[in-house]
Amino acid sequence: MTDSTREPSIFSRIIAREIPATIVYETETLLAFEDIAPQAPVHVLVVPKTERYANVVELSAGDPALLAEMVAAASRIAAERADGEFRLIFNTGGSAGQTVFHVHAHVLAGSPLEEGTLAH
Ligand code: 5GP
Repeated sequence: MTDSTREPSIFSRIIAREIPATIVYETETLLAFEDIAPQAPVHVLVVPKTERYANVVELSAGDPALLAEMVAAASRIAAERADGEFRLIFNTGGSAGQTVFHVHAHVLAGSPLEEGTLAH
């Protein structure tokens, strides 16, 4: 949840255009950009502009419509950049590989996707 004393997340700094990224899609509520360390032919991060939610569990409880927007954005990105099929990953918690605690979806696409991708 929001802590006004906390530094902006790396993703908030990308959203503010303080850090460059290759942006592939944007709405009023979301930004999608290429992952800096891609693990598939298409590897895009879909990030809500708010950093109120640290992970998908918080997001689904607090704003399920925004979670649905993320899924729709993932589908659109996979259709535009691959064959429309995709893997959607929300690492949730450090032991699951989450390193940025500003909810984000990894959209992996482009065949063939290897099994086990994104196990950090
Ligand atoms: P997590 O490990 O939290 O699920 O995913 C964080 C993702 O953010 C990683 O895949 C990592 O490569 C990506 N990432 C970290 N810093 C940056 C950055 O500065 N720019 C971009 N484009 N991606 C980043």
